[in-house]
Amino acid sequence: MIVIMKKGVKMDDVEHIRNTILSRYNIEVISRYGKIILRILDSVNEGFILKKLNNTYIVDKIIKNEAPYFLVTREFKSQDTFISIGDIVIGGKAPTVIAGPCAVEAHDQIKTIAYFLRNHGIRLLRGGAYKPRTSTYSFQGLEITGLKILRNIANELGMYVVTEAVDTDSFGYVEKYADIIQIGARNMQNFSLLKRAGRAKKPIILKRGFMSTIDEFLSAAEYIVFHGNPNVILCERGIRTYERLTRFTLDISAIPVLKELTHLPICVDPSHAAGKRSLVIPLARAAIAAGADGIMVEVHNDPDMALSDGKQSLTFEMFETLISQLYSGVSSYREKKIWTFMQPSFS
Ligand code: PEP
Ligand code: MN
Repeated sequence: MIVIMKKGVKMDDVEHIRNTILSRYNIEVISRYGKIILRILDSVNEGFILKKLNNTYIVDKIIKNEAPYFLVTREFKSQDTFISIGDIVIGGKAPTVIAGPCAVEAHDQIKTIAYFLRNHGIRLLRGGAYKPRTSTYSFQGLEITGLKILRNIANELGMYVVTEAVDTDSFGYVEKYADIIQIGARNMQNFSLLKRAGRAKKPIILKRGFMSTIDEFLSAAEYIVFHGNPNVILCERGIRTYERLTRFTLDISAIPVLKELTHLPICVDPSHAAGKRSLVIPLARAAIAAGADGIMVEVHNDPDMALSDGKQSLTFEMFETLISQLYSGVSSYREKKIWTFMQPSFS
């Protein structure tokens, strides 16, 4: 049983309930998004508790059957959650673009791509330093060297780093160098990693496992929030279906479904869903039209030579097309969210 206190309730009042009505039970007290929650860990005499608690003036809501997730739901918090990274807000009025190569390959590669992106108003630079590759023979990433490259170049250009943590051992390094920590699709149900992400002081972008349901996706997000980190961005990146002409199938329905269920911001990665660069622009447009708070795309200065995911990486020219289409189209797609984040050119 979960007891959600009214907003603004003081700890003294919570302690009073704990020491009187709930004195017989083991209770866990947590506080998220400005609300205090009591989890009653034992089985309870429901009728008695409900009657007593409903009569108090400080209880907002009681959830009888413990659901796999509730902190991330709109039932718990109806207003959208905004996540700030420096002066950028994710989940706010303007859709966010996170862009960069699949992997950090070399200093000059990141510098070239980052300059290009920055000149097009992009502030969130992605790139994997630790790569979760399906094959052990594929490029595994530059690890700490890669993190340092991202950090230095992002600092030089006034950008922010989005990069993946693949295990708990290296999590601390990623946390030190990143501004947003990515948990990849293959790790969506790596519960020790999710718990570690919950203790992180930086926002997390959690990608949907390609064989996971939306319920499992939200349960994974709940782990992170429950363990202490309220700043989670969800990322739909395609799921496995019987269709073989795309790498995965972008689940567009997941966007409005998630928007109904959760207050967390949602971004979409059309690159991994498509697996093929010619499909990325229409999928990105569809994602924004369906209500996504942002997109994450792979871009490379020489995609055919990329060490990872070159086939799905946009060329610079294609990225320019994508951006101009999003800038011109987005305000007509979305009544309230107007594309206003275009920054002056970087020189
Ligand atoms: C990535 O973003 O490069 C990546 C590996 O994505 P996913 O975990 O969605 O496959
Ligand atoms: Mn990739």
